[in-house]
Amino acid sequence: MHPDLVKLLELQAKDRTLLEADQALDAILAEVESLDQQLADGEKAVAQAAKAVADASRRRAELETKLENFRKLEERGKARMEQVRTPKEIAAVMTELDLARSILAKEEGDWMKQADLISGLEAAGKEAEARLAQMREAQVEARGEIDLRRREAENRRQAALTERDSAAGEVNRALRARYERLRTVKSVRVVVALNGASCGACFTQVPLNRRSQIRAGTLIDACESCGVILYAEEIVE
Ligand SMILES: [Zn+2]
Repeated sequence: MHPDLVKLLELQAKDRTLLEADQALDAILAEVESLDQQLADGEKAVAQAAKAVADASRRRAELETKLENFRKLEERGKARMEQVRTPKEIAAVMTELDLARSILAKEEGDWMKQADLISGLEAAGKEAEARLAQMREAQVEARGEIDLRRREAENRRQAALTERDSAAGEVNRALRARYERLRTVKSVRVVVALNGASCGACFTQVPLNRRSQIRAGTLIDACESCGVILYAEEIVE
């Protein structure tokens, strides 16, 4: 095999290791993200519950103002009752009073319902807070364990990167530039073994003359069809 190709294959192997290290690190970072997301959801639930309590409390305050007004109306009706004399006047005040009382009864009923609603919402809010606190506590251990794995993965990635860079330094400059260019379009597998008479990546036939040169190690050539750099696996006899 062409000696430059040997070095290039070495580089490709290191690049594959680096890619695996990258993927392992990404998977760990995704775990952290998922824990963050869980907390964010829990915090959102607490905020929503608090808002529901605030809204319902505001509504209850409005009902209280209304109740206060109808109570005053009722008081006024009672006071008028003391002053009126004729049956007609009495009947009119009675009608007003009845109306005020029936509205008052209805509003009081609404107020009670609202109070029940608020205690339900407050209970739900406390539950959401408790769940969030529980989640935070449960995450402490998980995050500690993930953090250890993250540091290991970062070290492995750093080591893979150092090895990759030193392998890259061994490769002929022009060939390395070609390899890097190909890699940006074809990901990591850009130095590919011949598969019989064909390119091992796209299986397009490689002319015999060029194949022999590649086998002899006198030519570094690319597949005419897909562009990968071709090499011949040593035949062990
Ligand atoms: Zn090809």
